[in-house]
Amino acid sequence: MAEEPVDESARAPGAGSKVVAGNWKMNHGPAAAERFFARFSPAVEEGAVRLVFFTPDLSLAAAADGARVPAEFGVQNIHWEGSGALTGETSAEMAREAGAALTLIGHSERRHIFGETDAEVGRKVRAAVRAGLAPVVCVGELLEERRAGRLEEVLRRQVGAFAGSLAGARAAMVAYEPVWAIGTGETATPEDAAEAHGIVRSALGRRVRVPVLYGGSVKPGNAVALMSAPDVDGVLVGGASLDPDVFARIAEAGAVAGPGGG
Ligand code: PEP
Repeated sequence: MAEEPVDESARAPGAGSKVVAGNWKMNHGPAAAERFFARFSPAVEEGAVRLVFFTPDLSLAAAADGARVPAEFGVQNIHWEGSGALTGETSAEMAREAGAALTLIGHSERRHIFGETDAEVGRKVRAAVRAGLAPVVCVGELLEERRAGRLEEVLRRQVGAFAGSLAGARAAMVAYEPVWAIGTGETATPEDAAEAHGIVRSALGRRVRVPVLYGGSVKPGNAVALMSAPDVDGVLVGGASLDPDVFARIAEAGAVAGPGGG
């Protein structure tokens, strides 16, 4: 039987709006997560954007309990096995049981610091889909790859490693994050983002219709322009998601930029 194409359901809070996702990386333990939401929740307009938080695993419950705004929560990494002798790892099933609805997969720090390969990204995506966890898969080129004119080749290779697995997913997203723009203060122009997002969409194929987010030094000052670029359905924000006031301003920018594929 042919699988139904992925089409993000309208159930998520803020569905149909831009996605504004924060990746806290290894920051904000449980107490800091509570403090973040005590300040963030009153500062954002409910439902104006689709808010997503990728917290450290140990802060997931504190964040979800402390948020007084509709938001979705996810982890930053999973292992592809369901259980076993894999010290320090978390399975997709365990993340779900702990309250995660989504998981980042293949973030550039996982690929470039921890040596994660395209094949491993593919296995993790399949594990997430099997467990009912929405994969948010990160792709992006290195500066030398961009300079060598290899943007399209790199993105097609990275997306090709998991696109087939998304056809069976109930929900998923892809984040285009040029490696040279992550945590560096360098940002892709809206034109760069639109070009790369077009490649990602084409590599995903017509059967996989999911939000495609931009990530890489997003700040309140560039968020409206980036989220207004063609094919940009929202943003994945690292450093600027740690400060509740700054992240609230990025959420506001998402509302200004208007509807998205989220
Ligand atoms: C990220 O970690 O996904 C990211 C985009 O980081 P930053 O916003 O700090 O560049």
